[in-house]
Amino acid sequence: MNRKDIKDIFYFSKTPYAELHLHFGGAISPRMIWHKVTIDDCSDELISQFGDFYSFQHFFDEKRDSLDEYLKMHKLVEPLQTLDRLEYFINRLMRGAYEFENLSYIEIRHCPYSRTNKLKDEKERIAEMRIIVLKIDEYIKKYSGSENGKYPIIIRQILCMHSQFPTYTANVNSAILDLAIEMHELGIVHGIDIAGGEKNYTIRYDEIVNNFKRAKEQKLQTTAHIFETEDTPDRMLELIQYLDRIGHGIQIPLKYPSYLPYLKKRKICLEICPTTYFKCGTFTDYNNENFKRIFRTCEEEDVDIVIGTDNSGMHNVRLQTEFENLLLHEVIKYEELNKYRQNAFEHAFGLTKVEKQIFKDDVNISIDNGKYILEIKI
Ligand SMILES: [Zn+2]
Repeated sequence: MNRKDIKDIFYFSKTPYAELHLHFGGAISPRMIWHKVTIDDCSDELISQFGDFYSFQHFFDEKRDSLDEYLKMHKLVEPLQTLDRLEYFINRLMRGAYEFENLSYIEIRHCPYSRTNKLKDEKERIAEMRIIVLKIDEYIKKYSGSENGKYPIIIRQILCMHSQFPTYTANVNSAILDLAIEMHELGIVHGIDIAGGEKNYTIRYDEIVNNFKRAKEQKLQTTAHIFETEDTPDRMLELIQYLDRIGHGIQIPLKYPSYLPYLKKRKICLEICPTTYFKCGTFTDYNNENFKRIFRTCEEEDVDIVIGTDNSGMHNVRLQTEFENLLLHEVIKYEELNKYRQNAFEHAFGLTKVEKQIFKDDVNISIDNGKYILEIKI
């Protein structure tokens, strides 16, 4: 059929978004966490610590002056995401992403060990991790779809190893990697990450590098929280050879720009999450010159940037707000907006080549004699 035969052409929602850097703990708004724990479950876990909701919310709104201070929010939230509450949190995450964010694709990352029962010993907690990953997968599948009460969003899991002692031993991190490899073969997990603060990387350097080397040997896709702050030791640059993406990595264009051609050659992108840097005190705001320089330098060196929220619920900032703020503060130009949006689909761990193309390109629907015709440029 010829295009001129088509009577009407409708351009519908051609701007689906993808979120590649979202922590499960930070994806849920404090109000929902409070509701689930305090009202639904009638638990005094939070009331005993905070008294009322406003003090709880204030804990998240407080300005932090370091990444370690910032990570205390995760430390509080993660143990609350126990097995019996996973369904509620997955449902609310998907509902918000669909209703308010126009997200078509999300990679949620989480450390399964942080959600296990603290009263159990390490061996039992390691065994429980498997159940947590399978349950999250079960609930994602339960709420994915187009029928009532379901959401048309593709969600993939990334497992996070953790850098903090003494809870997250080498044994625990190795078990997280083993689980990621096993679940990857089942199509349930799509990547591995390390998080938990960069100060501990120096003493755990060999362990971290060996884990990522093993992950790549097992064909797992990789990202790592590195060079988010100046605390990442220089030698972590050696880890980049085992990475497909870099979580934050903002210090690379600022302190080690000579590494950018390598990133370009290996098609390694930086996952930039602006609000986090303002919350941690790394930059004052969007107008900070160094913050803007990250984007300019990557643009000049042709290194891809993907925009993420890191913790949309904790920050109370949706992905579109991040894009809008970058535009308003002239960090990026309007003409570049689509490129940054598309980058996220291009660098997604859990999409096929064809799926990436569908999300990146415009999709048109037209009507010909009452029949709907979907046009996809591939
Ligand atoms: Zn993060």
